[in-house]
Amino acid sequence: MNIFLETYGCQMNMADSETIRSILISNGHHMTLEANDAEVVLMNTCAIRENAHRKIYGRLDILRPLKKQREQERRPFIVGVLGCMAQNLKEELLNHPVANLVVGPDSYRALPHLIDRIVQTNNQEIEASLSEYETYSDIAPSRIAGVNAWVTIMRGCDNFCTFCVVPYTRGRERSLPVSSILNELERLVKSGYKQATLLGQNVNSYCYEGERFADLIVKAAQIPGLERIRFTSPHPKDFPEKLLYAIAEYPNICNHIHLPLQSGSDRILNLMNRTYTSAEYLDLVKVIRRIIPTTTLTTDIIVGFPTETEEDFQATVQVMNTAQFNNAFIFKYSERKGTIAARDYPDDVSEADKTDRIVRLNELQHGIAFVKHQRYIGQKVQVLIEGDADKGIDRQMGKTEGNLTVVFPKTGLNPGEFITVEIAETTAGTLYAH
Ligand code: SF4
Repeated sequence: MNIFLETYGCQMNMADSETIRSILISNGHHMTLEANDAEVVLMNTCAIRENAHRKIYGRLDILRPLKKQREQERRPFIVGVLGCMAQNLKEELLNHPVANLVVGPDSYRALPHLIDRIVQTNNQEIEASLSEYETYSDIAPSRIAGVNAWVTIMRGCDNFCTFCVVPYTRGRERSLPVSSILNELERLVKSGYKQATLLGQNVNSYCYEGERFADLIVKAAQIPGLERIRFTSPHPKDFPEKLLYAIAEYPNICNHIHLPLQSGSDRILNLMNRTYTSAEYLDLVKVIRRIIPTTTLTTDIIVGFPTETEEDFQATVQVMNTAQFNNAFIFKYSERKGTIAARDYPDDVSEADKTDRIVRLNELQHGIAFVKHQRYIGQKVQVLIEGDADKGIDRQMGKTEGNLTVVFPKTGLNPGEFITVEIAETTAGTLYAH
């Protein structure tokens, strides 16, 4: 059958979509570029925030006329919701008149069989049980061409941060075998990739037969031709110095650490079950900067977590001022069904306060990044070219090893190639070379 697959949410979902494509193609299905050309439309969804849910319901509504048209033509039309939202809402999704297939993140192997069953019976199908073992480590992902390859090294999460739905939608932590990850990386280099990003909900929990994440990344760094290795995300609670020394020693492990802070208030961190204090977080930042002085540091922050006061918010401001992040992804708290916070803490910070705090933090971060990035003026940086810059085809863009965006005049070089450029101007978000 012709299948259209669209992906929402995080890098983990992008990587999962490549596994889904592989499962479908190896079962004789064809992937299409347009929903209109497909008999099966699959949405690999995210459940992390309320607007991610709204987006999928909006998309299901958009597919109504196509479904009606197919019914009139007596042609099959299957609409499947996959991924975290499928796992989170399960049967509830089948109440929508367009959705007739629901499959959770540990059940993708069942997809060809479920599609066949719907074609035969015209019934709705749901498969959303969580597994303690499924890692898909034997399935080579079918990648869509790009400069970076996502490589899943572990699935699930055991941390149970109180705001987060991931432990319920992706299940318990499981690590893929070292050998299957290294084989995949070697395969990627052979097919032309120069950069891979190792993915896990908490990469520092990686453990396979006694080998930890620092051991794995050192082995990966020794693969000839793998010129950039990134990873996301580490949890601040268990960041080993061994990993920092590996980043400092191997030039192909990128000097960029994404270290989610979430809040600078110890009271809120405790309610979030983050298991570190702001002082411990800042100590870790100090150690990172001592061992890798040139590293860029980025973070995630939630504003408006239940009971967050102006005083708690000011504690976050203080940590941001001290940590001096290169970039921060700041979100308003949104209650997720099934989480500990949804059960125990009423979402009591007003929308106006959440908006006010997100605006103030973004302004603060903008100012910090603007000053930090001015230091690059006059410096030469190596850029991995990703493609044309958004604002005009006469310019290209790429990333430094610190994951900073660089825009420069168009060259004869293609995406996936390296160029060294001298930075002439900067903004809070972008470096520009003439
Ligand atoms: S570490 Fe916390 S925020 Fe990250 S996936 Fe696990 S539970 Fe969610």
